[in-house]
Amino acid sequence: MFWQKSIKFCPKCGAEMDLSSRRCSRCGFEEPFSFQESPLSPKTSNWWYLVVVLFGFFGGIVAWAANRSRDPKKAIHFLILGIILQVLEMIISMLIVFNLVFRVFEGYPK
Ligand SMILES: [Zn+2]
Repeated sequence: MFWQKSIKFCPKCGAEMDLSSRRCSRCGFEEPFSFQESPLSPKTSNWWYLVVVLFGFFGGIVAWAANRSRDPKKAIHFLILGIILQVLEMIISMLIVFNLVFRVFEGYPK
């Protein structure tokens, strides 16, 4: 969903092709021209995902701000991922807190 695959498919036989190669290793089909992203816009590094995973919402904002001008679509992904991770983290910590409170009350003699 969020993750960009580093492979493409041969337009002739459908075999997986490496992004860097223009020639299919199965059928030998050669691309007339590369349909990869334009060299003018450098590829957004997937390392930004690590930043988002490590820093949650804050990381998402940083990754979004750093990439929104050259890759707005991916920048939005970073932002959304950051929010989702932050919400998940909040839910998990709330569950832990509730669990602790529950145990404390459970421990009291009746
Ligand atoms: Zn092929």
